[in-house]
Amino acid sequence: PFEVLVVGGGPAGAAAAIYAARKGIRTGVVAERFGGQVLDTMGIENFISVQHTEGPKLAAQLEQHVREYDVDIMNLQTAAELIPASADGFHEVKLASGASLKAKTLILSTGARWRQMGVPGEEEYRNKGVAYCPHCDGPLYKGKRTAVIGGGNSGVEAAIDLAGIVAHVTLIEFDSQLRADAVLQNKLRSLPNVDIITSALSTEVVGDGEKVQALLYTDRNNDKSHRIDLEGIFVQIGLVPNTEWLKGPLRLSPRGEIEIDAHNATNIPGVFAAGDVTTVPYKQIIVAMGEGTKAALSAFDHIIRH
Ligand code: FAD
Repeated sequence: PFEVLVVGGGPAGAAAAIYAARKGIRTGVVAERFGGQVLDTMGIENFISVQHTEGPKLAAQLEQHVREYDVDIMNLQTAAELIPASADGFHEVKLASGASLKAKTLILSTGARWRQMGVPGEEEYRNKGVAYCPHCDGPLYKGKRTAVIGGGNSGVEAAIDLAGIVAHVTLIEFDSQLRADAVLQNKLRSLPNVDIITSALSTEVVGDGEKVQALLYTDRNNDKSHRIDLEGIFVQIGLVPNTEWLKGPLRLSPRGEIEIDAHNATNIPGVFAAGDVTTVPYKQIIVAMGEGTKAALSAFDHIIRH
């Protein structure tokens, strides 16, 4: 059995594995796709001290760094069930393959995924005008025309954020009204370079094969189709934590995120969690790495006391 078993191989999991291995304790990582969301990212310009890098490159470096240590990496393996420790003191993780792994402590870092619009062109122009993270990609659209899809808190926050950088923002909401907090809505309405369109169903991302040129939407009041010429579309309709496999004794927030305390402990002793899969605010690479670090040090602390 492992002393620390990390489930998830994104920035949080990689940091956790390295910190655990550096304590000289038996460490394993199970990952569906080592690298995580970083694999789907093009330019990264906010990983402090690295002015510019690319997702696939950073993902390869994460793996290389973990391989410097004696860590058992089990890539392309999906965790399917968590069975908390009983009398023998070992937690069990069952894999979709049928195999099962045991560990004294677990670090859950299965990340999250952005909910997509599911319209033609969205996948094709991902990273070519279709973006999901305003903190990451906002500056790339300086002086350009953009749309934000989604009128909840994250969509309205994104629109306010972008309005300070880009030339123009059109906020598109499916419902007949925005769902964001009133204070955010007031702030948004006070901005001169923002239009708000409600009762709008986004139907297609149009491009020239290289980059985005327009967004098509249908006015749900009269079924008329409209076109907005623009360079960027930020989709803000939800970040979904990868916790479907964790239903049961582990405490999740109403949004399905793993609830953690300041030491990354969950409600199950010896089970820790880190990164986008948790309730930690601000989902970013550098935050996920810090959280993975904290979780590993907490797991070590747990081990030396038990
Ligand atoms: P993830 O990166 O999501 O990794 C989760 C890991 O768990 C993966 O290995 C996955 O395969 C694995 N996994 C999931 N379910 C299971 C399971 N059941 N069993 C086993 N393994 C499982 N952040 C920035 O700081 N800067 C940026 O420029 C930036 N740009 C981004 C661009 C895009 C398009 C996206 C999608 C995100 C971007 N982010 C950016 C956010 C950043 O990628 C995330 O905050 C970060 O990757 C979170 O790390 P994580 O380790 O918590 O989770």
